Amino acid sequence: MPAVPLHRPEAPPVAVVTGASSGIGAATARRLAAAGYRVVLTARRKDRIEALAAELAEAGHEAVPYALDVTDRAAVDEFAASLDHHGPGPGVQVLVNNAGGALGTDPVETADPADWRAMYEVNVLGVLNITQALLPSLTASGAGTVVILSSTAGLATYEGGGGYVAAKHGAHVIAETLRLELVGRPIRVIEIAPGMVKTDEFALTRFGGDEEKAAAVYAGVAEPLTAEDVADTVTWSVTRPPHVNIDLLVVRPRAQASNYKVHRES
Ligand code: NAP
Repeated sequence: MPAVPLHRPEAPPVAVVTGASSGIGAATARRLAAAGYRVVLTARRKDRIEALAAELAEAGHEAVPYALDVTDRAAVDEFAASLDHHGPGPGVQVLVNNAGGALGTDPVETADPADWRAMYEVNVLGVLNITQALLPSLTASGAGTVVILSSTAGLATYEGGGGYVAAKHGAHVIAETLRLELVGRPIRVIEIAPGMVKTDEFALTRFGGDEEKAAAVYAGVAEPLTAEDVADTVTWSVTRPPHVNIDLLVVRPRAQASNYKVHRES
């Protein structure tokens, strides 16, 4: 991939968003662009991020698409190297680790280890890969922010959630550990843990494209969170003054009191 030129005199700060091709990632990229960030949109589906970059450009924002699989360490390193962080300008100030997802709802007794491995790869190692690769640039910016989109599944379990819950607990632990390890450096670590969010693809991916099963997740729930609701919390957290660290923000729809206590209207 060609270099992503980040700096020019009076250039806006840069926010890198992973999983920007759909759902929460795309909504977050839109909000951060509107908040004045130059957004670098990454995901595996190049056509999607190119379309979003064009949409943002049309609206007068700056956006650069970069096709990237966060589980591919070599590709992540190449991406980091392609970010031109030499010269004037604030560089990469924000990294939003959003790429992730769930596969299956099988109980531990019968779950497919391949699903668990894939969930660990993207939700844990994906975060590790890109965070490690961008930490030098985030540090150099003088006011870096690492956001980790975990989940309420990163805080408590539910039946059938084992593999996803284990992976999101991993993401939660990265946030907690990184915050301890980076203290004293100009970087804050923000964890956003959403409950039920109705996005176009999350449940579809979880159920292997089964639309009926995906729809049942949200059946009767008056107002699940939307991607925009979560993007709003991410953008609010990121735009606090640099000394203010929102360690952990748990956000659920009013109809959801815990991972498995959800009010459904019949
Ligand atoms: P989504 O629409 O399925 O978004 C997932 C994004 O991750 C997509 O843009 C996908 O893009 C990207 N992605 C997946 N694997 C990737 C990989 N290996 N490399 C790079 N990008 C990858 O789901 P969402 O609802 O917006 O979820 C976004 C994040 O919030 C996820 O981490 C999810 O676990 C978390 N979350 C969701 C909910 C919910 O209820 N929806 C609740 C709590 C937390 P490509 O396929 O183009 O690569």
